Amino acid sequence: MTKLKEYKMFIDGSWVESESKKTFETLNPENNEPWAKVPEASTKDVDLAVKAAQKAFEGDWPKILPRERGKFLRAIGNQLRENAELLGKVETIDTGKLFRETNKQANYIAEYYDYYAGLADKVEGTVLPIDKPNIQAITTRIPIGVIAAIVPWNSQMFLTATKLAPALAMGNTVVIKCSELAPATMFEFAKLIEKAGIPKGVVNVISGFGEPCGKALTSHDLVEKVAFTGGPETARHIIRNSAENLSEVSLELGGKSPVAVFEDANQENAINGITAGIFGATGQSCIAGSRLYIQKGIYNEFLEKLTTRANKIKIGAPMDAETEMGPLSNYKQLENIEKNIKLTVEQGGKIKCGGKRHSFSNKGYYFPPTIIECDNHNLPSAENELFGPVLSVMKFDSEEEVIKKMNDNKYGLSSGVYTKDLARGLRVSKAIRAGITFVNTYRLISPSAPFGGIKDSGYGKEAGIDSIKDYTRVKTTWFYTSDEPTLDPFSMR
Ligand code: NAD
Repeated sequence: MTKLKEYKMFIDGSWVESESKKTFETLNPENNEPWAKVPEASTKDVDLAVKAAQKAFEGDWPKILPRERGKFLRAIGNQLRENAELLGKVETIDTGKLFRETNKQANYIAEYYDYYAGLADKVEGTVLPIDKPNIQAITTRIPIGVIAAIVPWNSQMFLTATKLAPALAMGNTVVIKCSELAPATMFEFAKLIEKAGIPKGVVNVISGFGEPCGKALTSHDLVEKVAFTGGPETARHIIRNSAENLSEVSLELGGKSPVAVFEDANQENAINGITAGIFGATGQSCIAGSRLYIQKGIYNEFLEKLTTRANKIKIGAPMDAETEMGPLSNYKQLENIEKNIKLTVEQGGKIKCGGKRHSFSNKGYYFPPTIIECDNHNLPSAENELFGPVLSVMKFDSEEEVIKKMNDNKYGLSSGVYTKDLARGLRVSKAIRAGITFVNTYRLISPSAPFGGIKDSGYGKEAGIDSIKDYTRVKTTWFYTSDEPTLDPFSMR
């Protein structure tokens, strides 16, 4: 039997086992075999990590000049660039995501640290126009305290950067809880945090399950804010947990993102964008464009071209540079996708391609690009987030009709429109109830572009210039500017 790689947690600048010495294994989705083991954090480990973060918050970190803190963030960015290949490899083994994506992403994520490094010394306060004589008042932005950052297994480096970079830039300290489904990358990242010279306790990384670890973290009385990315059910638990410690919560949740292709669209471009949106990362992306509406006049022609493109997608080993789609990350995903497809077909959905487990490997969780024609978008595959390479396709007639259909889902994360008429692109974008709309493109991220949804896709934006303020609280300071004693102590005004 191959020896498993062993990871430790990173608490207060030290590499530690869990106090119970309990561990759990993480599987390689390519062959369904365990390849590493990580500590299973108990409530006691959570308490140690949060207390380490609190101690660091009471220490020098928030007092360091903002520009100097920015230099620490740049050091993290540099470490990411220097170690992108290693980080990419580990993420690929742990999640099944393509190395061509994980490697590039590890490099690109460095930009988020650079971006917030630059913003660290640009958050200003205000001078208030107070309605009283001899009074001057100002507002300043102060750090919040200990932040709990909870991330899922997909795009962890990105989802960590959008929380960690602004949090550190503003002087907060952080406990990151990685996903139990793919914890290894986060520990490799913790090694880079150490190499970047971040003072001890400022960033702590723990591994464990939703219960007890996630629950203990999100209800800990020293945690002031929970920045969460994951599913809506977990989000509901977290909100309940936050009733214990009254922490602020920001939520980046799932999606069932609609895409409309109008008759005048550049079809080749639309096919590229739709392919990227639903088959990129094997569809395991929160912004996956999984509901496709094609206008009547081009429906048959466009669907045929799209199906031909989907059938050409090269399925294979995630480390192989030629592979375009790797395995799903875990068995639960595979089962859920199969269940939803079965129900959809029973209710009249017609499979254009895919639809059944792929034979590439008998061991891994391979599922092919799947396109299903649906009469209506209430069929299970068209309504539920499947988090896999499954595209449900519907027909539409008018702009008004498609807007109504696009909005008829509980989620509101992303959306897409393909049309050469940019006025229509803008009209549809304004009408769609979603946090993001892509016009004639899809699946892009940038440090300067706010990311996040509305409706059941959550609240609170990540990335972008304003996100830095989400890691501060406004403080008001009053000055009395006269030498004369004034106010009547028994009358407030
Ligand atoms: P999940 O909600 O099951 O788990 C996410 C994290 O929450 C994990 O670290 C897990 O251990 C933790 N957790 C579970 N129970 C908890 C509890 N009671 N208290 C505290 N923490 C708890 O999600 P998943 O299956 O790992 O990821 C897939 C989901 O994430 C999808 O719904 C997807 O759309 C969503 N997602 C959203 C975005 C976004 O930015 N909007 C990005 C990626 C993924």
